[in-house]
Amino acid sequence: MDHSQPKSERTAAIAPIPFDNSYARLPERFFARVHPTPVVEPWLIKFNRPLAEELGLDADALERDGAAIFSGNSVPEGAEPLGMAYAGHQFGQFVPLLGDGRAILLGEVIDKNGVRRDIQLKGAGKTPYSRRGDGRAALGPVLREYIVSEAMHALGIPATRALAAVVTGEPVYRERVLPGAIFTRVAASHIRVGTFQFFAARGDAEGVRTLADYVIDRHYPEIKGQERPYLALLETVAERQASLIARWLHIGFIHGVMNTDNCAVSGETVDFGPCAFLDAYDPAKVFSSIDQGGRYAYASQPAIGQWNLARLAETLLPLFDPDASEAVNLANDVIAGYGPRFQTHWLTGMKAKIGLTQDEDGDLDLVQGLLSLMKEGQADFTLTFRRLADAAESEAPQEAFTMSFSDPAAVTPWLADWRARLAREAQTSQQRAQAMRLVNPAYIPRNHRIEQAIRAAEDEGDFSLFEALLKVLAKPYEDQQGFSAYAAPPTPSEEVVRTFCGT
Ligand code: AMP
Ligand code: MG
Repeated sequence: MDHSQPKSERTAAIAPIPFDNSYARLPERFFARVHPTPVVEPWLIKFNRPLAEELGLDADALERDGAAIFSGNSVPEGAEPLGMAYAGHQFGQFVPLLGDGRAILLGEVIDKNGVRRDIQLKGAGKTPYSRRGDGRAALGPVLREYIVSEAMHALGIPATRALAAVVTGEPVYRERVLPGAIFTRVAASHIRVGTFQFFAARGDAEGVRTLADYVIDRHYPEIKGQERPYLALLETVAERQASLIARWLHIGFIHGVMNTDNCAVSGETVDFGPCAFLDAYDPAKVFSSIDQGGRYAYASQPAIGQWNLARLAETLLPLFDPDASEAVNLANDVIAGYGPRFQTHWLTGMKAKIGLTQDEDGDLDLVQGLLSLMKEGQADFTLTFRRLADAAESEAPQEAFTMSFSDPAAVTPWLADWRARLAREAQTSQQRAQAMRLVNPAYIPRNHRIEQAIRAAEDEGDFSLFEALLKVLAKPYEDQQGFSAYAAPPTPSEEVVRTFCGT
């Protein structure tokens, strides 16, 4: 499908992005060539200059012409805009054709570290995959994705990045009329489990193999020489997902829509639609208005990761072994191995959160003991661990920690066990407290802060709260003067109880 317009009419004579495209070289059935639909009056809200520099882009030119370029009004030289084809399981139901309905890949660049990165406009107009959608995005979800994806990166968690955000000067029609916006996303790639499913669902074995080879070349070249490279691919994706989801749990992140089309094989967090962060600890917590069965609840995420992995495995089966039952056995071993992989990542991270560097038999119980108390005591997830770091430094600030719980006295026995366990560790209390502060953030993108930033921007055109949030979240592990309010949980009236995917 070629929906592009003649190049001469649409391509501006500017080359601020040194494109080096590879996805556009894949067979034509992998995508649809399509240009962004111009917008009336684009205005650059935010441009991520450090990221542009990391990508080797001409930051000055992009800052100057950002409104035109990041709105899709002017397609830079060397771009080969396309919408990627993919399928996916949405809340367990298979949809054979999804694809980029409102995202357009401009192309790829090789960054300063030699890593190939996608540059994509989200909300840039209709594509052949738009179905009944308008191809557009509203300002609120664009600001949310900007804030959360950059915060995730600063927290040290693999995630797609935010290069720019523009408002379009055009309305979008959702439950109400909202300002339109476009988000420029940077990703290691946008290949999803659902991309593999797209070809498998069509019986296109050659497509699956071509995609698998492309992914190995692009993301995991080290597995190329292996005896069973496709099985190694599954294993590597299993490892990345296990590690990623463990890290989500460590900071109280709830993705909200872990459909297979939102599961990147690169191991980056992708799609920040209805995502949210725990305030009070509750493993069953769900924020998304569309997740009525609680399929993607906080503590269900590891199991969903495994379910998604099984869907990837199904698409690769014929590549594992010519013997079908042998192929299934091989796949099952990898899928079964995901559980212990996840558990190891999770426990290692949780132990670091409570200041343990060595291994003892009772460590898991100690971690779980604290989590049960936090659930019982409705303790704020982020603040509790941050205050535990203070308590590790000396016994004096212990009170701030216990006050996180509805019944502070209930935590005393756990604290005694914890201190007894710490006594058998090698670190000094100073070293321990410092290490704990590097894994227990003071600041996360709290739901109510995101909401306040969106409200101010949407209702008053005031982006100062958005800017302030970005600033404080850029250094989440450092206490920052004048920003203590950003570390605080919401008051009951501020609390966000529902999030919406905003499509
Ligand atoms: P998401 O829930 O954002 O992961 O999107 C699921 C699917 O719906 C993807 O194929 C999107 O491209 C498509 N989609 C979401 N919003 C829109 C929209 N406003 N217009 C067209 N397609 C959309
Ligand atoms: Mg998606």
